[in-house]
Order: sequence, then C-alpha cells, then structure tokens
Amino acid sequence: MDFDFDIIVVGGGHAGVEAAMAGAHLGLRTLLCTLNKKMIANTPCNPHIGGSAKGIVVREIDALGGMMGKFADHHPLQIKMLNTGKGPGVQCLRAQVDKHAYPAYVQSVLEKTDNLTIKECQVVSLLHDDKKVFGVVLENDEKITSKATIITTGTYMESTLISGKEVVPGGPDGEKASHGLAFSLKEMGLDLFRLKTGTPPRIAKESIDFTNALIQPGMDGELAFSYETKEFTPLKDQLPCWLIYTSKETKKLVLDNLQESALFNGTIVAAGPRYCPAIESKMVRFKDKERHQLFLEPEFREGNSIYLQGFSTGFPHAFQEKMVHSLPGLEHAKILKYSYEIEYEAIRPLQFDYTLQIKKYEGLYGAGQICGTSGYEEAAALGLMSGINASLKILGKEPLILRRDEAYIGVMIDDLVT
Ligand SMILES: Cc1cc2nc3c(=O)[nH]c(=O)nc-3n(C[C@H](O)[C@H](O)[C@H](O)COP(=O)(O)OP(=O)(O)OC[C@H]3O[C@@H](n4cnc5c(N)ncnc54)[C@H](O)[C@@H]3O)c2cc1C
Repeated sequence: MDFDFDIIVVGGGHAGVEAAMAGAHLGLRTLLCTLNKKMIANTPCNPHIGGSAKGIVVREIDALGGMMGKFADHHPLQIKMLNTGKGPGVQCLRAQVDKHAYPAYVQSVLEKTDNLTIKECQVVSLLHDDKKVFGVVLENDEKITSKATIITTGTYMESTLISGKEVVPGGPDGEKASHGLAFSLKEMGLDLFRLKTGTPPRIAKESIDFTNALIQPGMDGELAFSYETKEFTPLKDQLPCWLIYTSKETKKLVLDNLQESALFNGTIVAAGPRYCPAIESKMVRFKDKERHQLFLEPEFREGNSIYLQGFSTGFPHAFQEKMVHSLPGLEHAKILKYSYEIEYEAIRPLQFDYTLQIKKYEGLYGAGQICGTSGYEEAAALGLMSGINASLKILGKEPLILRRDEAYIGVMIDDLVT
C-alpha cells in the first residue's frame, strides 16, 4: 500500500508539536492536522513553562532532542530558578512566556521544518481494520493514509465549559470543541472517560492596586532550559509577578456559598487529572488555613491581562466578581475573562504500551492530555516519546523506552500505562 504520509499527528498542542517535529527530524513524511493553525502551541491556562518537577521534564525533553526548552528560552517574560534556598535536588527553572509570542515563534519554526506539512482540518474518525490503523478521515470525508497516527487532541474532544450550573459545549480559550473522533474511538472498542480541569480569571492590570502586593522579580544570569541556548534574557528585560493572599472575606464568601459552585452542586462529575484544585476545594480541604497565596502573573509583554494563579473556581460569573473584589488590591478589579472548568474525553491510559502505542491497534499512538496527564510539559514529553517511537517502528528500529530510574519521563509513562 502507498501511504500519503509516514506519520499523521492529530492535534497541534504541545504534544502534537513535539510528536510532529520528532517525526520530521527523523526524516519521516509527517502531517500535522489541527483545528486552528493560529492556535498551535497555545497555552490556554497560565503561560508558564517549567517549575517544580516540570522544569526537569523540559530539560529531559531537550536532552532527547525535543523543542520545548528552546521555545521557552526564546525571550520569556520572566525566567528564574525556584527554591534556591533549598538543596539542588528541588531547584527548578521556571519561565513565564508570552501568550502571543510563544505560539507565534513555535509556528514560525514549524513552518520552516523539512518533511512537515500542516493542515487546518478536523479529524472525525480513523481508517482501520480489526488490528491496524492506517490513516484518518476528515470532516469533509477526505481520507489520508499513514503508517502511524498519533492522537493528541488535548482538552478538545466533546468538551464542555462549566461555571455554576451552566454547561455549554466549547473548547479551551474560546475555541470550538472537536466532535466525532471520540465516538469513533469508542466504536473501535477503546475505553474513553471524562476528565476536567479549570483556569482562573484574568484581570485588567490597570485596575489592580499593587501597593501591598509582594513583588516577585525574575533573575539575571545564564538561565535556560536548553543546552543549545546561547542568548539569555537579562533581568532588565523581564516583567515582575506579584504575590498576594486571600482575605477573611474571601474565605467567608466561598464557604458560605459552596452550593453555588459547579464543583459542589453536582454539575461537575469528572475528576481532575492531577491535584490542581479550585480555590473552593482548597478552602474546604484546609479549613483551618486563614489564607491562601495567589500569584498575579503577566500573560503578555504588550497587554494588560494578569493571570490570577491559584484562583480557579467553579462559581458562576456574577459570584466571581464578588470573590475577586474581596482580594487585597483587587477591590476595583476588572475581570477580562472569567474562570471556567472544562470537561473532555480522554483515553484510559492502561490501553497504551510503553511506546505509547494503543495495544489493540498497531499504528495508533496517543500523547498529551488525552492520556490522562495535565500540563504543557507533560504533554510535550509524551508527544516527543510517541513521535520518536512511531518513527523508530517505521524505520524498523528498537523502541526508546525510558526506565523509572532513568528519567522523570520514564516515571510518568510507567505510571500511566501500568
Ligand atoms: C482550562 C484549562 C486549564 C488548564 N490548567 C493548566 C495548568 O494550570 N497548568 C498546566 O500545566 N496545564 C494546564 N492545562 C492543561 C494544558 O493546557 C494541557 O496540559 C496542554 O495544553 C495539553 O497539551 P496537548 O498537546 O495534549 O493538548 P492541547 O494543547 O489541548 O492541544 C490539542 C490540539 O488538538 C487539536 N485538535 C483537537 N481535536 C482535533 C481534531 N478532531 N482534529 C484535529 N485537531 C484536533 C486542537 O486544535 C489543539 O491544537 C489547562 C488546560 C485548560 C483547557
């Protein structure tokens, strides 16, 4: 059979970018299918890369020839080593990236990559027989064949947006949900389940009084994720973040009105992929804690949007106004975007082998958020490993499997597939 491509990657998020670039770098004809080219490598939540544990994953990606470290090193808004007061084992690099400039840079690199074709389209089902997958079917019924197909659809499959008791279909960051593929995977006998995650409100910078907020500057020095990076962003070109705490009023508002939150009134039933709790969940779990820390972080170099880290919530919009105005310095804050929770379809990860191939279907791989992880770095790492392994298989070579004692990525994959 003549195949149109060696590898088709479905999804242009952080997993899809690494998977596609791995295939292309290994000389395989690779097609990246994605819903919206302009949203390739978008950061729908906090535009930051690295931090605790995740920073090490980004360095592992770099050591394996992946791209995320190089992308994050390219003019971040802020870069710093965390936990410098503690031992080297827990120190980790964290970059605040620009929500516009980061994806734009990734897209410019992808466009110049040999062996890589990018197509804006929606994949609705797969070409397959009982044992093998050999391509994709698009919304317009176009069929494209490939030796391997890697699904990296993130938080988009049949996703719904939730706040309070309101549930509407929709994808992250104002994008549309993707429809069809999840049903097709279920028809193929795969076990899918629903997961949820959430994102906090964005606040207009000029409406915040920073007088009593604790400034959190970046750092000077040769700080970079990639060993290949030779240009560093000096502190004078970085933007600060700030630290504030919730007030007594915030705590009272939240605890007195829990039944209004989608997380406590039965509207959300899905579990989160990891411990990344909403503010009401933290206040219920740690009732004796007087206050919770929140970080105010810039999303753009040229823009006024401030990400309110630690304040994601399932409360309805009107109530979010009250909650935000109860925070010190945010009494007159203007909310640019409300917090929301999102539910989506994921593939139960026990169905993958160590190469991230679905055991039931040769040639079908998965990576990123749909495998049950959360986070840009985790997605990128899984994308890279699936891209490398799909390529090695096509080239007739031994797979690359990282052991638990060799890499954080090895631990993550072992935790997922066993
Ligand atoms: C509301 C929210 C809050 C989050 N909070 C955090 C957080 O605090 N920290 C953190 O690290 N991570 C957070 N995340 C998770 C982070 O966004 C994901 O882990 C990461 O983006 C996953 O990358 P991915 O490549 O797997 O998928 P995504 O980045 O979601 O990309 C999926 C891609 O698939 C494409 N696609 C989907 N369906 C189809 C189809 N049928 N055909 C073609 N293309 C398709 C889309 O266009 C998109 O390009 C959050 C995500 C959301 C939505």
